[in-house]
Amino acid sequence: MNRVDYLRISLIDRCNFQCQYCMPEGAELDYIQQQDVLTHDELITLVREVFIPCGFTRFRLTGGEPLLRRGVVDIVRSIANCPETEDLSMTTNAFLLAGMAHDLYDAGLRRINISLDSLEPETFDRMSGNRGRSRWQQVWNGIQTAHRVGFNPLKLNVVVIPGINDHEILDLAALSIEREWHVRFIEFMPIGNAGLFNHSGWVNSEDLRQQIRQRWGLTEGQVRGNGPADVFQIPGARGTLGFISQMSECFCDRCNRMRLSADGWLRPCLLNETGQIDFRTALRSGISPSTLQAQVQQLLTFKSEINFKQRESGTTGIYGRTMSQIGG
Ligand code: SAM
Ligand code: SF4
Repeated sequence: MNRVDYLRISLIDRCNFQCQYCMPEGAELDYIQQQDVLTHDELITLVREVFIPCGFTRFRLTGGEPLLRRGVVDIVRSIANCPETEDLSMTTNAFLLAGMAHDLYDAGLRRINISLDSLEPETFDRMSGNRGRSRWQQVWNGIQTAHRVGFNPLKLNVVVIPGINDHEILDLAALSIEREWHVRFIEFMPIGNAGLFNHSGWVNSEDLRQQIRQRWGLTEGQVRGNGPADVFQIPGARGTLGFISQMSECFCDRCNRMRLSADGWLRPCLLNETGQIDFRTALRSGISPSTLQAQVQQLLTFKSEINFKQRESGTTGIYGRTMSQIGG
């Protein structure tokens, strides 16, 4: 079992997109009430006084859409300023990134992952649930700004859905050739939109590698913070290609992370919330950091005993919550 030292922190469960694979159209999501969201101070207390003492040194800010969180730059600064923080990153849809990238970088954020499911504005808008003026250009501007500001590594996340964006695999992979961008193909999981999943199915990472191998060849690659991704490289490319194959592969034995939701629930596994801890209630009722540390240690022990096959069933898709609610 890997050392668990990586915490994915959801700052908000709301989003300005409605990606087909993440939030089913028309779904009534049960949003967290504002008063139940961990405040800046509560979050930083947890990071400094509970998670860091339990051995967590790497943090990712996510959501929902983390750039919608008021005070996100201050949260970045507070976590980046903890001397024990070895790595701080963010996952975003980049719609608001062009205007925020400098401030985020100045506050101490150095790594960023951006969702970019398509290079075709129409397909992009369809996938991200946008019916108004196209949003693709603004996202692309966000990516370009992040590149200029110096975020490194800069990773682009693509969820591949058969019949929707799987015809763009080579175009998306080609983004890694000229620039030091790291394109990661994610197997579509039945979380969030089971209807679409059952209708379209998912594409196996090996099939994608096959296509890319035939076009350019493929060698093993390396990138900082590769987590569960298998990393490859087009020969001579400046960036890499990552494949996150949670459907076709079990990588529980490589799992090094836990997830904290915006309302303070710590869950041991994306697919299993058994044993999760309600930190918001604990903090607000004055439970001491040392007691909370002991609870985290217990959950770490529990995590080492569960595995991918113990998936839960629920009402939204196969699982009870969407990625935007869990903190993807
Ligand atoms: N809003 C930000 C974004 O989209 O980058 C951060 C949150 S989002 C929930 C985090 C990641 O979850 C994204 O890369 C998204 O593609 C992925 N995701 C959401 N639903 C998924 C699903 N059903 N299968 C695979 N990946 C999914
Ligand atoms: Fe929003 Fe990210 Fe989910 Fe898309 S994947 S709906 S951008 S939270």
